[in-house]
Amino acid sequence: MSQRHAFPSKAFQNALLRWYDHHARTLPWRAVPGQTPNPYHVWLSEIMLQQTTVAAVGPYFQKFTQIWPNVHALAKANPERVMKEWAGLGYYARARNLIACAQQITQEYGGVFPQEELDLLKLRGVGPYTAAAIAAIAFNKQAVVIDGNIERVTARLFRIQKPLPSSKPLIRHHAMDLFKNIKRSGDFAQSLMDLGATICTPQNPKCSECPVKNFCEAFEKGDAALYPLKNKKKKIPVREGKVFWLTKNKQLVCEVREKDRMLGGMLGLPTTDWDLKHDASDVNRDAFKAIDTGLSITHTFSHFKLILKIYAAQVKVLPKKNMKFIPIHDILDSGLPSLFQKVARKMITS
Ligand code: SF4
Repeated sequence: MSQRHAFPSKAFQNALLRWYDHHARTLPWRAVPGQTPNPYHVWLSEIMLQQTTVAAVGPYFQKFTQIWPNVHALAKANPERVMKEWAGLGYYARARNLIACAQQITQEYGGVFPQEELDLLKLRGVGPYTAAAIAAIAFNKQAVVIDGNIERVTARLFRIQKPLPSSKPLIRHHAMDLFKNIKRSGDFAQSLMDLGATICTPQNPKCSECPVKNFCEAFEKGDAALYPLKNKKKKIPVREGKVFWLTKNKQLVCEVREKDRMLGGMLGLPTTDWDLKHDASDVNRDAFKAIDTGLSITHTFSHFKLILKIYAAQVKVLPKKNMKFIPIHDILDSGLPSLFQKVARKMITS
């Protein structure tokens, strides 16, 4: 296929949809053929899938839809419970936005999801990708949906020579050809996602099994695995901080983190200010008179790596108002985010 000719959108769409009709993945949030998609399920899954894999999201999606089966129920949810059930999925701003968005839909839209991309974009926590995905998948509206899988498939189909992320506008330009005048918009977006997840995989793409190999420039050249080209990753900085394991008998001091901090609103263990560039509160926190256990954990966030050294002390009373005691044997089920789960596991097992 040469880029000099107009891309045969219709033939490409037909080939991919024929394949999808036989090979679509079964996913808990996905409507089966003949079923009307549930916008609440589509929205919830798309928010959960941001920065998270399909395998990790599955159990969370099942749990959320059991506890809060529709947008009205989620709008009335106790925020602490939502944060607790979200624990482990990461990127906690998504959970806070989830409740705000559910409330927005019940209060401003009478509990009915808007269908148009521009209206969806006004919802809390819904960015351009998510708005396009909901419009296409839940409402079969024409929208150009580009997630990580579709980005990779497009870069290979057109053998895009610019590296990511600067190639994003060019990828969108070509993706518009893929989606041109598409009728089964939701199925088509999902067929591209499934192709990327199962055949056009990041490593070792299975080009010989690919239903659209005849449209693919990278297949023609035999160099699919090289794409998408990427700029070399910058090394992320390392930060250090202290975390405090403060106990009274068999109870542990936990705190609800301040809303405007990283992991805001989540339950955590007391720490120094590792989320600020300058860890400024060592002086105050050292008032715990905790001793260095010699243990530490490492956790990688998107923009820095954190090493937390674990300090321990016994206390008589709760040191601050936002703190509470939790029995140590309940700590791993109490909704701690992964960072603090690592600390708890280390202390319990060592
Ligand atoms: S032929 Fe290979 S590179 Fe091209 S879309 Fe199919 S799996 Fe991807």
